[in-house]
Amino acid sequence: MPSLDKLPYSTCRNVCATGCASYGDRPSECHDYRCLWLDDAVGDSDDRPDLLGLMFDLPSLIEDHPDYQGIQAICARELHPRARDDERAAAMLARLARVMIVRLSSPAGRTELMGPRHLVELLVERARVRLASAPPS
Ligand code: SF4
Repeated sequence: MPSLDKLPYSTCRNVCATGCASYGDRPSECHDYRCLWLDDAVGDSDDRPDLLGLMFDLPSLIEDHPDYQGIQAICARELHPRARDDERAAAMLARLARVMIVRLSSPAGRTELMGPRHLVELLVERARVRLASAPPS
């Protein structure tokens, strides 16, 4: 099975008019990945990532991170610059951020936290303590 071998947010060489030109032999990264929309965990049929401009997931890197223990969180990825400003996308982000941490990433590589203020402050404090107690590199 070939490797995905592409940079984040760059267009895959296998993209074709009907989707993936190599779908049956797609790389394991693609085969194994499931966004939360695909798992019926976020949104309805109109919120499919290519329609909404946002894709949601919760990678183990975040889910298992000590800073996030006991905090409900979700990762939102903008599929194109300013996708968050679309009315439907903005409403979805606001709805989620009322009850959980939303870790929103932009194509430029910027990540920001949205969510209830006390949870954002808790994450910032946990990061501060963790970094302060880390051995010097
Ligand atoms: S499924 Fe994977 S290989 Fe196919 S187009 Fe998408 S990123 Fe490329």
